[in-house]
Amino acid sequence: MQYHSTRGEVSGLSFIDAVMMGLASDGGLLVPQSIPDVQAELGRWKGLSYEGLAFEIMRRFLSDLPEEDLKHLIEKSYASFDDPLIAPIRSFDKFHVLELFHGPTLAFKDVALQFLGNLFEHVLEQRDAQLNILGATSGDTGSAAIAGVKGKARIKIFVLYPEGKTSPLQERQMITVLEDNVHNIALRGSFDDCQSLMKSVFSDLEFRTQHSLGAVNSVNWARILAQIVYYFHAWYQLDCPDRFNVSVPTGNFGNIFAGYLAREMGLPINHLILATNSNDILARFFNTGEYSRGQVNFTESPAMDIQVASNFERYLFYELNQSSGKVVEFMEQFQSTGTVSLGFNTRRQNEAFLAGAADDEQTIETIKRCHADYGYLVDPHTAVGIEVASKLHREDLPLLCLSTAYPAKFQHAMHRALPEIPVEHPTLNALKGLPERKQVMDVDEAAVKAYLAGHAL
Ligand SMILES: *Cc1c(COP(=O)(O)O)cnc(C)c1O
Repeated sequence: MQYHSTRGEVSGLSFIDAVMMGLASDGGLLVPQSIPDVQAELGRWKGLSYEGLAFEIMRRFLSDLPEEDLKHLIEKSYASFDDPLIAPIRSFDKFHVLELFHGPTLAFKDVALQFLGNLFEHVLEQRDAQLNILGATSGDTGSAAIAGVKGKARIKIFVLYPEGKTSPLQERQMITVLEDNVHNIALRGSFDDCQSLMKSVFSDLEFRTQHSLGAVNSVNWARILAQIVYYFHAWYQLDCPDRFNVSVPTGNFGNIFAGYLAREMGLPINHLILATNSNDILARFFNTGEYSRGQVNFTESPAMDIQVASNFERYLFYELNQSSGKVVEFMEQFQSTGTVSLGFNTRRQNEAFLAGAADDEQTIETIKRCHADYGYLVDPHTAVGIEVASKLHREDLPLLCLSTAYPAKFQHAMHRALPEIPVEHPTLNALKGLPERKQVMDVDEAAVKAYLAGHAL
């Protein structure tokens, strides 16, 4: 399988080249040359373990990794999960919940970042190379990325986050990791300051090349690939229904894009229900065809507080019949005016999606309702997905709601919804009182670069 960019200037990359490139060098996103149709295999794959299924799916997207190596990487990546099913399902009368939070940092990002960390390690070993990862986080991604690479030879990770502005718990998940290759940098500024400083460091090509800087952000193809697997695995857990709907709490469009690919590959997903919080640019797009930027609102589901979804361009490429020219035109217009309208005269692609938004009040009500009706705790992101699905799921089909984080990670929302109920997890409790290490710095590009240069491999 070869990979090419949505913007048409990069093509003929192997899987590993695509993973190492991350964002395509023409500013686009990398997509596979074709999407394999696996419908004929679905019967044969019944009964496979999560890892076995991951191997069957992933190997169809790559040809430059020996099968034994791929198998080994998959086994190693999911050995860190605390449930033998990796992503088990909990069933209630009206819906099923796919628990994607059984990895080391209790969020669905572990599914992809555990695999990506091991893949990087393997490739760097083969190429006798090294990588310095630079990232900016407001919470979830940082700890999952750190957990994916901590202690690995040939890799260092530098995470920028706003001092005093992440939840204490999320900060603790990062700064109690004391491995030598992990550097947490708390900047005296906002998350936006962290992100623009990171972008500005990456845009200094000389510095970037000199220090082998790389990213692990959600546009990396390997992250999407790893996420396709649980859509299939869930379908088998549901006993292979003729059709089913899947609700996905959405921010950067990575998770739901993996679901879209699963559907294109032949998994009988009827609708993908795209659920956003009040940052609803995507919900508006799928309902009106208009993609238009707004202000970022801060909500109880912070991992989805995003206005411009970084993976959306991948979907757009298929919506625009794989025309790079049209993608470039769309992105240029969006860049300059902040609004583009597709008008939706081609309904075919769009038939895959239903979309809606839920605000904080509805999110909190949903957490309360799930607890009252089922005695089950859902985190605020998952609650957004359940609430939107309750409005849009009309068919008499099984409904699967993806659960993207363990509730104890989001104390503020859980306490607001259920003040009487302690919401804890042993992994998080165990972090209390552990030694911590972080570097506190001003938002000063020269100082951060000097720190990177002094500590990079
Ligand atoms: C990252 C994240 C999301 C959003 O996923 P995307 O792939 O960015 O759409 C939802 N919930 C949680 C808990 C997350 O960490």
